[in-house]
Amino acid sequence: MTTPAREFLQVAAEKSANLSQRKAIRRAIDHYDASARSGRARFADWEAARQRCHDIKWEALNHLDKYLLEFERNLKARGGQVFWAETAEDARRYVTDLATRRGVRTIVKSKSMVTEEIHLTPALEKIGMRVFETDLGEFIVQLRNEPPSHLVMPAMHLTRTDIAKLFEEKLGDFLARGSADFDDPPQLVAAARRALRRAFFSAEMGITGANFLVADCGMIAITTNEGNDRLGTAIPRIHVAVAGIEKVLPHFQDLALFWPVLATAGTGQAISVYNTLIGGPRTAGEIDGPEEFHVVLLDNGRTDLLADAEQRDALHCIRCGACLNACPVFRTVGGHAYGTTYSGPIGSVLTPHLRGLNEYQHLSYASSLCGACTSVCPVKVDLHHHLLHNRRNAVRSADRARLERLGFKMWRWTMMGPRRFAAAGWLGRAFVRALYAIGLGGTAFDPLRPWAQYRALPSMPRKSFRALWRERGAD
Ligand code: SF4
Repeated sequence: MTTPAREFLQVAAEKSANLSQRKAIRRAIDHYDASARSGRARFADWEAARQRCHDIKWEALNHLDKYLLEFERNLKARGGQVFWAETAEDARRYVTDLATRRGVRTIVKSKSMVTEEIHLTPALEKIGMRVFETDLGEFIVQLRNEPPSHLVMPAMHLTRTDIAKLFEEKLGDFLARGSADFDDPPQLVAAARRALRRAFFSAEMGITGANFLVADCGMIAITTNEGNDRLGTAIPRIHVAVAGIEKVLPHFQDLALFWPVLATAGTGQAISVYNTLIGGPRTAGEIDGPEEFHVVLLDNGRTDLLADAEQRDALHCIRCGACLNACPVFRTVGGHAYGTTYSGPIGSVLTPHLRGLNEYQHLSYASSLCGACTSVCPVKVDLHHHLLHNRRNAVRSADRARLERLGFKMWRWTMMGPRRFAAAGWLGRAFVRALYAIGLGGTAFDPLRPWAQYRALPSMPRKSFRALWRERGAD
């Protein structure tokens, strides 16, 4: 039977051997690293900015009840509607029912990880809606029928040639004919724009996420670099924003810090190109905007995480993706290997809370614990320590405990006796030598097989370090 852990190991092995993907990821992250470095240098004191962000999020999460109610009150006062969704199922049902009741056929979506988390698009497609992702990267991965591979750069695993071939196959009618360069980026972008423009003008509903929910003004803040969120919220007659409850910020002026910090950590920009505040449906005299504006506030396991004093700072995350870019494991295997909505270090911390520790404990081990993720996080989530906490919790959990305890007891017993240690070393060396002598080296019996798959195996020494030490007369 396949499990998420087995799948992770299998896909990670495939992806790490896929040199074209690794090259594409490395190129994207190298470019990001250079921009983020100069972005951070633009701050008078980047460390102070990180600390301030951390403190603001701490305040928001420690008074979440107060700030969420304040947000709801202010938004409703301007005609917006708020739905509190305890589970992913509640959120999906609210949006699908609303779309059905209003006779919606076409939906344009702006990039939103939380809608990926609740699998909203498949639920809408199942009831016959046509759903278009309008962020370019998301549009590309939607055409490929695959999930985003990164929080900020959904198609980072693809080369422009991959994208050109995809567009040739799926968007042939929208490509300019006679172009000299088959994979010319401006031509590809123009083709996507032509295809999406039709969707924008036929959509009855626009769906977005929200980077922030601002309590004291009752508005959602959305950040993009393409402006697709503005078209997607201004043209359709219904706008639905889905947001995790942890996205709340207490004050309007907090955006003055969070917008540039998010842009710097996310892409290395001083500020993203489009920062939009939406506080309600269209009012009398306004020439655009939706007739209805709904905000779905999603819990889906977040209050359980909030109750965990040790790890609740994981809810500070602003989904900038910096920890993914810094992680040597993510850089090697890419986002799809994780098999989860949130990948990289923050995904490995969050997923066991959102989907269950038993099935997703393996993600805590997909880390070298180098701490690079923690050091780049703009809101100071203590990521690598949380991975350790998850490992500890996994060991304590009922299923793992018996086997691991037995293994570690045996290991301790062996290590505590010099003779036992020497005997175990001798047996191990003899066993591996015998396997290779009878031609079973590298097979399922070989304990060194995973290691030797990608490296030359040095010959097994006849004598141990201890034996050599004794022979050479050292004390
Ligand atoms: S944990 Fe920190 S670095 Fe990682 S995505 Fe969230 S905010 Fe960014």
